[in-house]
Amino acid sequence: MERMAIFNEDHESFRTTVRRFCEERVAPNQEAWADEHRVPPEIWREAGGLGLLCAWLPEEYGGTGTDIRFDLVVCEELARIGATGPGFPLHSLIVAPYIAEFGGDALKQRLLPAMARGEKIGAIAMTEPGAGSDLAGIRTMAVPYGDGWRINGQKTFITNGHNADIIIVACITDPGKGAHGISLIIVESGTPGFSRGRNLRKMGQHAQDTAELFFDDVIVPGDNLLGEAGKGFIYMMEGLPQERLVATLLCQGRAEAALATTIAYTADRRAFGKRIIDFQNTRFKLAEMQAQIMAGRAFCDQLVMACLSKRLSAVDAAAGKLWHSEMLGRVVDECVQLHGGYGYMMEYPITRAYVDARIERIYGGTSEIMKEVIARDIVKHL
Ligand SMILES: Cc1cc2nc3c(=O)[nH]c(=O)nc-3n(C[C@H](O)[C@H](O)[C@H](O)COP(=O)(O)OP(=O)(O)OC[C@H]3O[C@@H](n4cnc5c(N)ncnc54)[C@H](O)[C@@H]3O)c2cc1C
Repeated sequence: MERMAIFNEDHESFRTTVRRFCEERVAPNQEAWADEHRVPPEIWREAGGLGLLCAWLPEEYGGTGTDIRFDLVVCEELARIGATGPGFPLHSLIVAPYIAEFGGDALKQRLLPAMARGEKIGAIAMTEPGAGSDLAGIRTMAVPYGDGWRINGQKTFITNGHNADIIIVACITDPGKGAHGISLIIVESGTPGFSRGRNLRKMGQHAQDTAELFFDDVIVPGDNLLGEAGKGFIYMMEGLPQERLVATLLCQGRAEAALATTIAYTADRRAFGKRIIDFQNTRFKLAEMQAQIMAGRAFCDQLVMACLSKRLSAVDAAAGKLWHSEMLGRVVDECVQLHGGYGYMMEYPITRAYVDARIERIYGGTSEIMKEVIARDIVKHL
């Protein structure tokens, strides 16, 4: 089945550069970076030099001044090689958009070109030890201090958290107002009172740093507030569809990669005098997965088209993330089964794909929260 015509010749020629970078610079280092639980900052600068970061940004900030398709190509290529780090998708497509959309001119000039060059790494810190799905329950506080803000609190599970130079922090600025009292404020590394806790040890996604962050009387200038005080929750709700689209695309790419490696494995491995792929059960399982992946591709491309024309709704994005993360979970499980005992050995790509996939149903909003978003819409239309 042919893909929907989303990408043009420019994107495909860019893909060649991205693929070479992924195959030559990212894939061979995955194991070393997984041991370190982070990637070295130099790889970010290298990617920035090739135009692989924040390509959608206006030219004045170091981008192409087009749309997110170049950055989506980067997501697809990282997923294709099963990379778990570097966290380019979050940096380019989730963090930078908040700054571009809601930051003041001086802040944008200071941060965005450096992000596009890979000199500064971005993260977004919403989750706290006591509040994940229920974001309105966060407790990190920012109180006015001179012309700026003084921040106290703690965040956890923050992707890029260990390497990040720029962190968008969700803070309470108006206690008692619940979701309407939340603001997004930027904290930069090196600011006194800001510290990082452990680089967390996870089940999978080992090349990705994920950290605890602490804010102890951190003072930031007023410019670091994104948009208006009290509107942070609304901004996050507006940003989530694109975040979920990115997760959807990564799940699709990872599922395609898992199937490809399993087809190759079962065509090579033999039992009872035949190739594993010649057993009817194997062929049927592969066929089922292929059909799911084809459906997933069509769904994915439809969501990308909706996003490009600014019509991607929260419900569509939630449905995409729900379906694709669950599909990926089923696919990697079947693929491990078709690998037999080797599917349980960490040196096999499918084993890593299996553990790396588990988080997709949890972060960026759990499957249960995705169902809530979709179900609320169903009930609204009764
Ligand atoms: C590797 C990793 C990377 C992450 N990266 C980031 C990041 O960069 N930035 C960031 O801010 N956060 C990040 N997170 C946090 C992530 O988004 C949260 O873990 C996730 O949203 C779930 O929140 P929680 O862990 O507090 O679980 P909880 O909210 O405590 O949920 C526990 C269980 O209860 C269920 N549940 C909760 N509410 C409902 C409900 N209303 N109805 C039905 N079931 C419900 C959940 O679905 C889940 O099954 C990351 C997490 C991980 C593990």
